[in-house]
Amino acid sequence: MRIYDTLTRQKEEFAPLQSGRVRLYSCGPTVYRYSHIGNLRSYLMADWLRRLLEADGYTVHHVKNITDVGHMREGQLEQEEDRIIAAARAEGKPATEIARFYTDAFLADEAKLNILPAADFPKATHHVPAMVDMVKSLVDSSCAYEAGGNVYFSVSSFPGYGKLSHQQSEDLQEGDRAEPDPLKRVPRDFALWKAAEPGRALKWESPWGDGFPGWHIECSAIVASVLGDEIDFHTGGVDNIFPHHEDEIAQSESVLGRQHVRHWVHGQHLLVDGVKMAKSTGNVYLVSDLDRRGFDPLAFRYLCATAHHGSRLNFTPASLRAAQRGLNRLRLATHSASGRLTKKARAEGEKRRAAFWDAARDGLNIPAALAVAWRVARSSLPGPIKRELLMDFDRLLGLDLATAPAPLQVTGEVAELVRERHQHRKARRWDAADSIRGQIIDMGFEVRDDRPGTAVLPVPAWKQDAGNIASSADVSSRLDEKPALDFTVGVVARRGCEELQRCVSSARAWLGDAGEVIVVDNGFPEECAPVAGKLDEAAEEMRFFRADHFLGTAGGRNVALRQARGRCVVLLDTSVEVTGDLFAALRPLLEDETVGVAGRWGVVTDDMRSFEEAESSGDVDAVEGYLMAFRRDVLSEAGLLDEKFRFYRHLDLDFSYAVRSRGYRAVIDTALPVRRHDHVDWLATPPDERERLSKRNFYRFLRKWRDREEFAAPQP
Ligand code: AMP
Ligand code: ZN
Repeated sequence: MRIYDTLTRQKEEFAPLQSGRVRLYSCGPTVYRYSHIGNLRSYLMADWLRRLLEADGYTVHHVKNITDVGHMREGQLEQEEDRIIAAARAEGKPATEIARFYTDAFLADEAKLNILPAADFPKATHHVPAMVDMVKSLVDSSCAYEAGGNVYFSVSSFPGYGKLSHQQSEDLQEGDRAEPDPLKRVPRDFALWKAAEPGRALKWESPWGDGFPGWHIECSAIVASVLGDEIDFHTGGVDNIFPHHEDEIAQSESVLGRQHVRHWVHGQHLLVDGVKMAKSTGNVYLVSDLDRRGFDPLAFRYLCATAHHGSRLNFTPASLRAAQRGLNRLRLATHSASGRLTKKARAEGEKRRAAFWDAARDGLNIPAALAVAWRVARSSLPGPIKRELLMDFDRLLGLDLATAPAPLQVTGEVAELVRERHQHRKARRWDAADSIRGQIIDMGFEVRDDRPGTAVLPVPAWKQDAGNIASSADVSSRLDEKPALDFTVGVVARRGCEELQRCVSSARAWLGDAGEVIVVDNGFPEECAPVAGKLDEAAEEMRFFRADHFLGTAGGRNVALRQARGRCVVLLDTSVEVTGDLFAALRPLLEDETVGVAGRWGVVTDDMRSFEEAESSGDVDAVEGYLMAFRRDVLSEAGLLDEKFRFYRHLDLDFSYAVRSRGYRAVIDTALPVRRHDHVDWLATPPDERERLSKRNFYRFLRKWRDREEFAAPQP
């Protein structure tokens, strides 16, 4: 078997440290919250690696740690408390109970995805003495030093530092303004042990006083005490490479005096709408979310099997639906049993078997192996051979291919309609047959003529929301069509029923027949559905789109933009109420060809870092997103909104700069008849979240535009 190794940056031929045995360690979950399906993608990768090794005859000792104390990121140690303790306080329960609850949930999720349980799930809290011993030996050999009850690893003592990530901790992420820890000798040193703050319950005795371990020492100590000095494989997600695994190498190799991990295997991230799935981004899906929508959790496993672990994978409900269909079909193929066994067919089958396992062995290429499985499924091989091959492949794929698709049970009125339809078809009365098919579908069933006999299946829940959009690209772009109206007003709402209604009805009152309103429900909570439903029926000049999850602010607005038919577009935030004839007032502004984007509120800046509210009408550096109006054809030059901006802040800066980079002006008119109310998205976001998300978007904006000549500050 060959596999890509993060350390050597190439595919390496695998040879076990000990004949016939493999020691495999995977960084496991931090149990203060549910694991999301992004985390689970990493565990699926480890599971495929383990299954492949086992299929090749190795005895695999797989260990996955449970982080139930001390998961904090370097640089945030001073500001951020232990996540498990924070969760315990928030939920009003002891930390041990929180950890137990989420550990159980994690194990249940793994089981639902057919992830084979590791032989050991060592808990960090059970291995603190081993961690203390390791820290002690690092201090004794002067690789670490104590300061104020904390112990730090001295990075300069380890010349190999940076060999895994090719990164030094000096280049900390941009925007990370954490104050340097004054107890450290050098900022890039990292904590091995932290003194307990007064009143802390989760703490242990140590030679440096009561305290608790840092996160990285956990894996070094557990690897050594559960698996031994040297292991074959260490896995994790790519975000673990730095600093977590870099620091683990520094610790373990300093103690051991030689390499402790043969091969480092890292899985790329699961994304949603192009952004990493993470709790802090607010775009997570849990296994229970898939369950609730009527998916088989193994559809997610199938989806992951369609991409190599070294590539990022974009998750959307639509891609999951496609995966569910693929899984169902593969299972069906496993159960087809026609055809005669011949010598030739057997030989052909063996060739395919070899192709499957070879594909998997070449870099753990699960998608290539899955493609071979599909070739078998679609082939004309006799049923029994197909079945035997697919079951063999399933030892690796883990898709429960032996499970037959659910038997079909249709009774009563539906069965009567099916019989009637069958009579019509036999008599070639196609129209009558089709109209009955329509009735059957209305009753929640689908008719499949591609099965032996005619099959009738209840439409599964996962198919029912197929009308909803899962990305802005799901709606067609009408931007190349001739404008059919003067104005398109776009309103995108994520929350706030009253706000949505106030905004839309005030806009419609003044719009009259000058245009249309597009409302995008950007993942609204259920209880607001009636409001949205009412808007939907209201009038023909209203069009309504519903996203099946929050597409991000830019993604949601792009739905409206792609569908806009007006010569001019007005994007309104739901906090805005129209109090007079906004559209008459906007006309002269937008008829001026030098104007690219207009609005009521704007900001100005000297240095692109601090922005101030513009006080009077005229040119601004950016029009604020509460109200942005532009001619639709400006979009063909400036482009749609950048969907990396999921949170709304600074998206308006980005758009204004994109428009201005095409030579247009950004202007405001403070006399426009609009009023601003509370901003629900802002109010619903906790203060530290606002801060973090705003900062992230701001750097995104800055990186894009700061070096552009047209925005360079005038030279004094
Ligand atoms: P944590 O519980 O945060 O320590 O993460 C558990 C594992 O999930 C780690 O190996 C991470 O690298 C991995 N991980 C986190 N987010 C993602 C994601 N969006 N896609 C894939 N793996 C992830
Ligand atoms: Zn780890």
